[in-house]
Amino acid sequence: MKAIVVGAGFGGLTAAAGLFQRGWDVTVVERAPELRPVGSGLAVAPNGLRALDTLGAGDTVRKLAAFQGDAAVTRSDGRLIARTASQAIIRRFGDAVIPATRSSVMDVISGLLPTDAFRLGVEAKGVEPGSASQRPRLLTDSGPLEADLIVAADGVNSVLRKALFPEHPGAVYSGITAWRLLVPTPKGDFLPGEVWGGSKVFGITPLVDGRTYAYAADYAEPGITYPDEKAELLRRFGTWHFPVPQLISAADSETVLHNDIYEIAKPLSAYHRGAVAILGDAAHAMTPHLGQGANQAMEDGVTLAALVGPSKSSAEVVTALAHYTALRAPRGADMVRRSHRMGALTQSTSRPKEALRNLGMRLAGRLVPDLALRAMDPVVAWQPPR
Ligand SMILES: Cc1cc2nc3c(=O)[nH]c(=O)nc-3n(C[C@H](O)[C@H](O)[C@H](O)COP(=O)(O)OP(=O)(O)OC[C@H]3O[C@@H](n4cnc5c(N)ncnc54)[C@H](O)[C@@H]3O)c2cc1C
Repeated sequence: MKAIVVGAGFGGLTAAAGLFQRGWDVTVVERAPELRPVGSGLAVAPNGLRALDTLGAGDTVRKLAAFQGDAAVTRSDGRLIARTASQAIIRRFGDAVIPATRSSVMDVISGLLPTDAFRLGVEAKGVEPGSASQRPRLLTDSGPLEADLIVAADGVNSVLRKALFPEHPGAVYSGITAWRLLVPTPKGDFLPGEVWGGSKVFGITPLVDGRTYAYAADYAEPGITYPDEKAELLRRFGTWHFPVPQLISAADSETVLHNDIYEIAKPLSAYHRGAVAILGDAAHAMTPHLGQGANQAMEDGVTLAALVGPSKSSAEVVTALAHYTALRAPRGADMVRRSHRMGALTQSTSRPKEALRNLGMRLAGRLVPDLALRAMDPVVAWQPPR
């Protein structure tokens, strides 16, 4: 059986690796001329690690992280809002959260595929979905390609989503703009985690290689770029507690990544059409507040491979894809909603609500120490299909 996967991001690569391991002939069509992730760092959550375990790649990714101690949520003046011990996460979910560079995780997954599986520099332009009796066809700038299964993993601005679900309004601006940095870790004591202040959030994730992945988010009109993104970050976060200004100062202006965040606010009616499956950001782009976009894309990829893998005909592929939609579409929509709600909680636009939130979280932390972790059960306790 032949599969074409469009997009070599976390979703596309996991689907491709899962299908390849089940004996499929897999081609990954990627418009970039090389395999290069957009963005600097990533937190692989226990659910993402379980997805990678099904490919035999979980332990390699686990080794990318140093031991993680406590993590904290603090106010911009340094006062503690909440603290979580890595050991508590491991006790509850069986794994820690693994902070890593995107490229290192992507290297692990792409390494599961033969190099001749990739067709780089080829752009998908559209798709004919096929049916139980007709194979689907991918239209590309290098001509049409036919397969038994096509996987649309082409990210938030998916061309294939538009072709498959022309009635869908597409991704909409979440109101939030985000910056990402990868810089040398400053000397001095600090806890990894997030700093929350009014409408803004700043995330601090030290990596095993002596660098720190940091991200920042705030509300803004869409489409605004700044002549000097680093100066803009210092303007917004320069008075926050150590190491926020130090991390920003350590950045090279040119390497600060700035993106507006789009989300699929209206859920897709299905995650397949004919013999074409859709996954990852193409299906359910979400805000980054749960750190789940790539983790969900990997859940999609391995679930798709497990369900479709045994198929021996177009009819079986189409039947398996209906199961894929039934399993993944409700979860994808739920994660988009949860991320959005988490964003509203994190980035507060009302001072009284912010004060109430901080007080509530401090009290809850004292009275029910594992409350925050318990609240993450529906997100992180996911198990791959057998
Ligand atoms: C600030 C920020 C922080 C984040 N932090 C985390 C985190 O800690 N943990 C987490 O799990 N998620 C995180 N995310 C979300 C995560 O980055 C995305 O959800 C994830 O990368 C989506 O993977 P994907 O494979 O669906 O799409 P993508 O990674 O976008 O990959 C799509 C691929 O398709 C290719 N492509 C696009 N169009 C075409 C075409 N027409 N033809 C051929 N190829 C095409 C692209 O070049 C790209 O390689 C974060 C996002 C942001 C913005």
